[in-house]
Amino acid sequence: MHKNFKGIEKTVFGRGSFHQLDDILEPRRSENQQYFVFIVDNYFKGKSLEHDLPAKLQDLVYFISVEEHEPTTEQIDTLRDEILEKKGLPAGVVGIGGGSILDIAKALSLMLTNEGSSTLYQGLDLIKYPGVYHVGVPTISGTGAEVSTTAVLTGPEKKLGLKCEWTVFNQVVLDPDLIKTVPRDWWFYTGMDTYIHCIESENGRMNNAYSHAFAEQAMKLCREVFLGEKSGQKPENDEKLMVASLMGGLSLTYSEVGVCHALSYGLSKILGYRHCYANCVIMNHLEDYYPEGVREFKTMAAHHKIDLPQGLAKSWNDKTIAQMAEVAYNLPHMWNHAIGENWKKTISIDLLKKLYKRM
Ligand code: NAD
Ligand code: ZN
Repeated sequence: MHKNFKGIEKTVFGRGSFHQLDDILEPRRSENQQYFVFIVDNYFKGKSLEHDLPAKLQDLVYFISVEEHEPTTEQIDTLRDEILEKKGLPAGVVGIGGGSILDIAKALSLMLTNEGSSTLYQGLDLIKYPGVYHVGVPTISGTGAEVSTTAVLTGPEKKLGLKCEWTVFNQVVLDPDLIKTVPRDWWFYTGMDTYIHCIESENGRMNNAYSHAFAEQAMKLCREVFLGEKSGQKPENDEKLMVASLMGGLSLTYSEVGVCHALSYGLSKILGYRHCYANCVIMNHLEDYYPEGVREFKTMAAHHKIDLPQGLAKSWNDKTIAQMAEVAYNLPHMWNHAIGENWKKTISIDLLKKLYKRM
């Protein structure tokens, strides 16, 4: 069976397109209890974006900090219960922020119409009913969360997405002006998530002409942004990175991620490392699997004077390493793609422990 995915219904791209949001929401305002929920990264509290928010008196606006942790099932359940109790079912949800906020908006949209805890729905196609209308406005580029079919949540048992076709945004607003304030290190780590998505999507058995076309273009844009003559955090590169993120996300949607993401999930779940940073820490040590990609990744890091930590594993005890290896091992779809159907012949918990000990 070939993958059959739903894409974003509508996309607006361009500087200043954020100001079209009011017009975009207007025709939807009559739905359900006729109000919108805005989920905004707390970074924007008190910034000009707060004043430009097209929120009406009846709307609910939540500024959420994503500093302490990535989105959790408990956080979504609490937010959902509070919103429904306050005002009933909204016309829609708008997420304005990075991958964390976009995932909160996607998960909230689904959980507003599906009963019980979000832990019940972590996995593929477990959601029973479509969510409410939802809009994504990325403010940092790289994860591809704006286009993906998943809303990644950390729960008590697993770090796994609510993955189904209703997860995909109905509308995205891609305004390159919104990413100009991203701190340089996050700009690099999150941008590299796109690059790594492409390397992993390309190097595995799920790769095909369709996913390859997106990866090829996204990698070309990443090279211009991170290595080219005019590389760096500049307005023209913000446009390129925003498009690269979307295309990298599409590439992996039609293919799959691999070794780096599998190991990264272990690092995030057990030690709480942020997704994009964890990927960078790991990619630095994966020459055996992606020799050319790792070489280029290191050149990009050196070019932007990004220091990735060495010797981390010295402070990890055997139990921690075993737990991380267990999480990584239990992602068969990634190993199946990266290594092949008989991946269990090559990949073992012991090998994964050794890989973690390289960090
Ligand atoms: P993030 O949302 O975690 O934000 C990173 C930091 O950048 C935060 O401190 C945030 O406040 C700040 N920030 C965001 N926009 C800013 C701006 N314009 N100016 C200044 N600061 C800004 O970042 P991320 O790396 O995009 O997202 C990581 C999350 O995405 C993780 O939770 C991960 O699990 C998830 N993820 C989801 C998918 C998916 O397909 N759904 C894919 C990969 C990762
Ligand atoms: Zn990723």
